[in-house]
Amino acid sequence: MRIFTDPAGSGWLWFDNLVTAGGTSVAFDPQTGAFSSHAHFCANREVIDCNWSATAQGALCHACAMTVLVPDPAIPNAVTNWARTEAAKRWVLNNLSRWGWFGPEDTGVRPVFHLLAEGPTPVIMGHAAGVVTISVAEADPVIVAVRRTALEEPYRTMIGHMRHEIAHMIWWRLGLQSDFLDAFRAEFGDERSDYGAALERYYADGPPSDWKERFLTAYASAHPHEDWAETVAHLLHLTDISDSFVASGLSSPEVPDPGWDPYLEADSERLIHAAASLTVGVNHVNRAMGLSDVYPFVLSDTSRRKLAFVHDWLRTGA
Ligand SMILES: [Zn+2]
Ligand SMILES: [Zn+2]
Repeated sequence: MRIFTDPAGSGWLWFDNLVTAGGTSVAFDPQTGAFSSHAHFCANREVIDCNWSATAQGALCHACAMTVLVPDPAIPNAVTNWARTEAAKRWVLNNLSRWGWFGPEDTGVRPVFHLLAEGPTPVIMGHAAGVVTISVAEADPVIVAVRRTALEEPYRTMIGHMRHEIAHMIWWRLGLQSDFLDAFRAEFGDERSDYGAALERYYADGPPSDWKERFLTAYASAHPHEDWAETVAHLLHLTDISDSFVASGLSSPEVPDPGWDPYLEADSERLIHAAASLTVGVNHVNRAMGLSDVYPFVLSDTSRRKLAFVHDWLRTGA
C-alpha cells in the first residue's frame, strides 16, 4: 500500500486516515488514488468510518456501493465488525485496482458483497456467481484468535479472507476469456472435478503428505478452485508487502530499482524473487518485537510457477 500526501498540509496520510495531522477532514478518491479535502464524503462515513469519497452528496462510495447486504445491527458488535470488514475490503479493492480490477474504470462485472453477522445461523463464507459472502465476526479479534487456533490457521485475517474470496470472483471473470480455462487447467488441474466430494475428502483425510512441495497452503490441496484462490491471495500478500516496503522508504539490495513499483513489474519471477527476499527481512524485524513472522511461508518451485501464472493473468486480465 502506498503512503499518501496531505492535500491540506505537508505531512503524510495513511490509507485509512479520516483526518490530517492538522485536523482537516479528508477523503480518499478511488478515481484519482489520492486524498482530497473538498470531496463529497461517503454516506457510510459516520456509520462505519469509511474514508472514501463519493461522486455525489449523500451517495455511497465505490466500495460501499458493492455491499448489498449489511449485518443486522441488533447483533452485538455487528457494526464495529462491519466497519473493520469494509476497511479490509477497501484495502484489497485498492490493491486490485492497481492492476485494473474493479476500480471505477473497470467496465466488467464487479463483485457483490454480502457482509453478515453471525446470529443463530452460521455464515458460510464463499463466492457464488459474483456474490462474495463474508462473516463480519471474523473481524472480531477474540473470535479470530479462537478460530486461528481451532482451525490451525495462524494467519487467518480479514484481509486474507477478502483476497481469497475475491480471487474466486476474478477466476469467474477470467473464465469469460477463451484462452484462460485451458491454461488454468494445465497449471492447476481440472476444476470440473466434484467440488463437494473434494472438500469432504479434504476435511476427512487432510492434505496429501507432500502438499508443501505442490501447494502454498494445506487448504489449497482441496480442489483446483481453492488452489487458485489461495495462490491469488498469496500473490496479493507478496505484492502488497513489497509495495508497502518501498512506500515506507525502506531499502534492500533485493529491491530491483530505486522507485520500483511492484504493481507495474511485468517480470513475474523478478517480482516473486524480490517479494520473497523482502519478507525474510520483515520477518526478522517482527522478531525484534517478539511477534510472529509477517510471512512465514516457504515458496516451492511449483508454488513460484503458480504465483507467476496468477501474476500474468491478474496484471493483464482485467
Ligand atoms: Zn464508503
Ligand atoms: Zn475458497
